Amino acid sequence: MAHRVTLIPGDGIGPELAEATTRVLDATGIGFEWETVQAGEAVIAEYGTPLPDNVIESVRRTKVALKGPITTPVGSGFRSVNVGLRQALGLYANVRPARSMKGLDTRYEDVDLVIVRENTEDLYAGIEHMVGPDAAESIKIITRAASERIARYAFEYAVANGRHRVTAVHKANIMKLSDGLFLESCRTIAADYEGRIEFEDRIVDNMCMQLVQKPELYDVLVLPNLYGDIISDLCAGLVGGLGVAPGANIGTDAAVFEPVHGSAPKYAGLDKANPTALILSAALMLRHLGHPDQAIRVETAVRDVIAEGRTVTYDMGGTTGTAGFADAIIARLTV
Ligand code: NAD
Repeated sequence: MAHRVTLIPGDGIGPELAEATTRVLDATGIGFEWETVQAGEAVIAEYGTPLPDNVIESVRRTKVALKGPITTPVGSGFRSVNVGLRQALGLYANVRPARSMKGLDTRYEDVDLVIVRENTEDLYAGIEHMVGPDAAESIKIITRAASERIARYAFEYAVANGRHRVTAVHKANIMKLSDGLFLESCRTIAADYEGRIEFEDRIVDNMCMQLVQKPELYDVLVLPNLYGDIISDLCAGLVGGLGVAPGANIGTDAAVFEPVHGSAPKYAGLDKANPTALILSAALMLRHLGHPDQAIRVETAVRDVIAEGRTVTYDMGGTTGTAGFADAIIARLTV
């Protein structure tokens, strides 16, 4: 039976990446019925919001979405669609694997990290106000419930994926209450996995240095929202940049798969952008839908085309366009 999946092509380079990715997915032979809905800049004039209700309703119905990047106009009245979607659908875990690939020009060869980022609170709760005309205050919310839930997700992920260690990242030496609660929650959950999954913690600034010096020493990282956002871009850089970094947002009732990168407006419509991150996000979606073998097939095809280096996009040192790169992957899937 075909899987019904919500497709949100997004802004900028999103639509051409979505086109490339759905072609790759269709080539796997798994049936998909795409429920395409629009969100982002393009729909503001029509709906008065970049996140119309029908988008959320569609994901609630299908329970799974593949999403392109969406522009967040800086300083405008609109909240980020990405943050809005995660909150409306209760997508509490943001999972971002960062794994080295042959053929990419990077400083490291053996990186194999998974970042598990808390997705619903911290400074992203969006509670800000002016204190008089010349000061602004943003409120950082950390709760025991959300921290224990994300820690448990990280440990369960480690168990399910044959991982050995979870590292909690925090700044509890300075934010003793908020980050202190996050760390305490991680320690509480870690106790349930003692003897099976190792646990350690790192202060976020030290973590940045360690990741730049010896990223191969780390396995699964669990972080509050803001540090998770920053560290996942850092880790994307370790393995070849934003163009190749996939992501998954997981909730109890729905999951949304999307690349780490944004809408790169300067490349929109040029058939230049790299679809790898969205295609690898789609492979994460295949695992979620119960097709781990097909996920590996897609990942292997992507890795092989990149390792070979003949038909890759500009950011991977080639001259092939978005569509041509997808064609090369499809050719590998259909031999
Ligand atoms: P960006 O990721 O869009 O682009 C940064 C640079 O990275 C680009 O100039 C480009 O050189 C490169 N790049 C990114 N994706 C690439 C790809 N697939 N192939 C080749 N090169 C690629 O980040 P930005 O410029 O900071 O943000 C642009 C817009 O995207 C903003 O409005 C931002 O809010 C939004 N954004 C959305 C998401 C999301 O939808 N999840 C995430 C991040 C940023």
